[in-house]
Amino acid sequence: SLRGKVALVTGSTSGIGLGIAQALAEAGADIVFNGFGDPAEIEALRRETESRYGIRAIAVPADVSKPEDCAAMVARAQEELGSLDILVNNAGIQFTADIEDFPIEKWNQIIAINLSGAFYGMHAALPGMKAKGWGRVVNIASAHGLVGSAQKSAYVAAKHGIIGLTKVAGLENANAGVTVNAVCPGWVLTPLVEKQIADRARANGTTEEQESHALLAEKQPMLRFSTPAHIAAAVLYLCSDGAATVTGTQISVDGGWVAR
Ligand code: NAD
Repeated sequence: SLRGKVALVTGSTSGIGLGIAQALAEAGADIVFNGFGDPAEIEALRRETESRYGIRAIAVPADVSKPEDCAAMVARAQEELGSLDILVNNAGIQFTADIEDFPIEKWNQIIAINLSGAFYGMHAALPGMKAKGWGRVVNIASAHGLVGSAQKSAYVAAKHGIIGLTKVAGLENANAGVTVNAVCPGWVLTPLVEKQIADRARANGTTEEQESHALLAEKQPMLRFSTPAHIAAAVLYLCSDGAATVTGTQISVDGGWVAR
């Protein structure tokens, strides 16, 4: 059980992060929600999570690409919920174009959110974890942390960077009671991927159903999407006592994507 632990999941107002926050709450952890969205909907989600799982939850609308936002969010978790024991760096965005057409500002934004955000989070959260002698950091990377795909330069660079950052953080904390690992999802049907499917259907004059199948067939031997719950199961494992000696590494939950 994670009862008595406090978990912060960045980008937990949608998709995979939401699934991870719900699974951690179900396991008994108090939750810090983070991410963009309608404030009333986020407040409803916060209350509903508290009452369904009998835990405490707060929501902090920090932009993870801003170091001062990340530091203030970690401080709020520690002040309002007593500590920060589990950090899941999940917030991320996507943009697709060939390198020569890739807007410079999009490159900078993706590196800032998908890569630097995880560094800022750890920078703020690791001191408290080390002081307590227990902590878990899980970075949501991607199959694109291990292999590339055309038109995804910034995303692939950021996700490969996350894998390297995870190794260094694992090494630095090897004897601190703090483990740092990454999870590498394949295709998960969230708004981030639904947009890619819709863009492809528009560009190719096909249906979204055809493009969903094409997306899977291109990359994943297993022709089905993983769910946020599948990704959350790997996060829960990494937070468990059973994973006490797993650090600096990654777990693929990708339907065989990187096996070929
Ligand atoms: P999503 O678009 O459903 O959710 C992204 C979340 O991040 C939202 O809550 C959003 O508000 C938040 N966010 C965006 N920018 C932010 C910022 N600057 N500061 C704080 N929060 C911010 O996407 P998702 O598919 O659930 O993606 C979650 C993570 O999983 C990302 O890191 C993504 O790269 C990774 N991932 C997704 C897939 C997939 O197939 N969906 C595959 C591999 C990896």
